[in-house]
Amino acid sequence: MRVPIVAGNWKMNKTIREAKELLEKLIPEMESVATVDNVICPPATALSQISKMLEGTNIGLGAQNLFWEESGAYTGELSPEMIKELCTHVIIGHSERRQYFGETNETVNKRIKAALQVGLIPIVCVGETLEENEAERTEDVVGQQIREGFSGIQIPDSEQLVVAYEPVWAIGTGRAATPELANRIQKDVVRASLMSIFGEEVAEGIRILYGGSVKPDNAKGFFDESDIDGALVGGASLKADSFAAITQAAA
Ligand code: PEP
Repeated sequence: MRVPIVAGNWKMNKTIREAKELLEKLIPEMESVATVDNVICPPATALSQISKMLEGTNIGLGAQNLFWEESGAYTGELSPEMIKELCTHVIIGHSERRQYFGETNETVNKRIKAALQVGLIPIVCVGETLEENEAERTEDVVGQQIREGFSGIQIPDSEQLVVAYEPVWAIGTGRAATPELANRIQKDVVRASLMSIFGEEVAEGIRILYGGSVKPDNAKGFFDESDIDGALVGGASLKADSFAAITQAAA
């Protein structure tokens, strides 16, 4: 039985003060749902303060990116060790990083390796664009993202990794995939590809999240599916009541 994860990606939203205010409301809500793992991914500026607020809770803290080098002349970047000082998780390969910041399957691969090396749990995002979807290339694109993203990587157990299937056309558009479609891709493409890389036992245990316009009123439909083990939530994670309602739906 895979314990569901509901992760909130705050993207470039919330000052430190706003982040603390939201967390104050969210912590009791998240702690009251013991059967779901929550991970909060605020902007990097708030990580330090939020890590203090999360001490003694079982709520995970994730960064939204990391650089693969250990240290040096890389202005503006944060190393795996720096992230590990504060966080349990790190989002890698989000479609916005692929779209606006030149992220490729190759750089995703380097980041995953670097994260695993310091003991961070990567939340690796894959998903096809609208154009790729309309050209019926979803299986090819997602399969390739997984094959190249995880090339040369082995993990001894499934807890070390989380994967999120996020069709790009569903992110921030209010146009979520249907649970049936998301489950088909997550089972037949994402988990099947993970199986050929990590073997059946490890791949069966890896939690695969769905992301793309998950809201309180559609969340349960996703969580009822066999291969949807939680959600990566953007917009609805910015308000305590909607994120709490999604967490409850996952319980
Ligand atoms: C995301 O940013 O990963 C995301 C899924 O956003 P939204 O929930 O707003 O579609």
